[in-house]
Amino acid sequence: MRVMFVYGAFENLGIEYLSSVLKLNGHDTCLALDPLMFSDPFLTIRPVDRLFDYREELLREIIRYDPDVAAFSATSSYFRRAINIAGDIKRISPRTHIVFGGVHVSSVPEKVITSDCVDSLIVGEGEYAFLELVEALEKKKTRENIGNLWTKTGGSIIRNPPRPYIDDLDSLPFPDKDLYYSIIPGYAGGYTAIATRGCVNSCAYCSSPVMQALYPGQKKMRFRSVGNVISELSAAKKRYNFGRLRINDNIFTIDSEWLREFAEAYEKYIGVPVYCFTYPDYIDGDKVRYLKQINTYQVCLGVQSPIPSLRGDVLNRISLNSKTAEAVRLLKNNGIRCVTDVILGIPGETDEQLEETALYFNRLKPDRVCVFWLVYYPKLPIIDKALASGELSETQGRDIENNPYEAANTVINRRQAGKKLRYHWMILFSFLPRILFLLLVKTGFFRLLQGVDPSGISSFYTMLGRDRLDIPRMRYYTRYWHFTKKIVFSRMNIFRIRYGG
Ligand code: SF4
Repeated sequence: MRVMFVYGAFENLGIEYLSSVLKLNGHDTCLALDPLMFSDPFLTIRPVDRLFDYREELLREIIRYDPDVAAFSATSSYFRRAINIAGDIKRISPRTHIVFGGVHVSSVPEKVITSDCVDSLIVGEGEYAFLELVEALEKKKTRENIGNLWTKTGGSIIRNPPRPYIDDLDSLPFPDKDLYYSIIPGYAGGYTAIATRGCVNSCAYCSSPVMQALYPGQKKMRFRSVGNVISELSAAKKRYNFGRLRINDNIFTIDSEWLREFAEAYEKYIGVPVYCFTYPDYIDGDKVRYLKQINTYQVCLGVQSPIPSLRGDVLNRISLNSKTAEAVRLLKNNGIRCVTDVILGIPGETDEQLEETALYFNRLKPDRVCVFWLVYYPKLPIIDKALASGELSETQGRDIENNPYEAANTVINRRQAGKKLRYHWMILFSFLPRILFLLLVKTGFFRLLQGVDPSGISSFYTMLGRDRLDIPRMRYYTRYWHFTKKIVFSRMNIFRIRYGG
């Protein structure tokens, strides 16, 4: 069978795993990459995005490949565009089976299945459900009893419950990187991998609790063996000779013994600089030594809020400020750059707490603070808290499920924040020396910036930093360069054909 994945802009390891399972079983796969030029979550410039809209070219690519199955992995913010593209495919090629998966689908399958163009969807972990669906379509067999699959047949909808998690992650083939590298060869300079699936925590603003609810009573986290991860990286290094590794695990440093074993093998066989993510409570002296051993140049540490009542009661995070301070100190003292995340716009957050947050980061002095404004995606536990505190109205609460694209863009508090944007600026300036920073805060300097959106300057500031070594950032530039050339040449050709010359 010919299976085409359609996805917006970024590398998606989930799709790469689906593709490798299909290829291993004799199916043909490829990717239609929707570049989302000037309209992605990090850079949206209207109306420039319309000039660079790639939807027609994308549709031509899809039709040229003529897939038996078109597979969409959709986040809530990409869902509307994905549904529109799926509708176009269905109109042009009604025989193509359209299947949706991903976190948005797993959150609100009842909403997604109502779309006319959707034939099937996969809830939760998808590798074997998708393979069984493709094989059932090929052999024209029943699609009943395919765990995780919801599918339309004979005017009704079959809703198969999820099968258990894949217990042995080592049994999966390595992700199919050629899916992306064949489109943009420049992507091969860096490599992204995961060693675990899931998370032990259940933060209220994260999709982890939504996925955990699909698998009650099952392990929250699963590990690949060290040998399996090193085999993948060794094979990839030989093939692509990548120069940086990004480990996308939610909390890479969770298991000290696993990390120790990994560090020994990684240092010996791979050795390229590493970027990873972790949580303050899972950093200690030993773990930092192992991170150093694997040549970690940067760690992203989730802080989210230093205000105990917001962090614990609203965000459902367990860490203490003392733990965060210790983690930042250990990382920096060992020459590992420490980037921290903070969320603003938390339900019930007061101006005093926002100022306290900025002062906290000025004391903490990580190498960089990434500021995010809370976005309410469907079914996140934090929505109930926001409804209870009046932060969201009942109508807004309903919109998050009914119209997730609009909701993601209108409920972003950054746009509603107005005066509160001055705290975003404050945090961006929190790297300043304490006395200067206090002077600016106390004299009301940041009031001058209220209502001014800091996202442009924030991206510029990030570009100047050493984070430019980060793989998604490098790929960001590569993608823009690749598709700008492609779109300009394609438009010039159309112009030549129409007007001669
Ligand atoms: S620690 Fe990170 S991945 Fe885990 S639940 Fe919290 S936000 Fe999600």
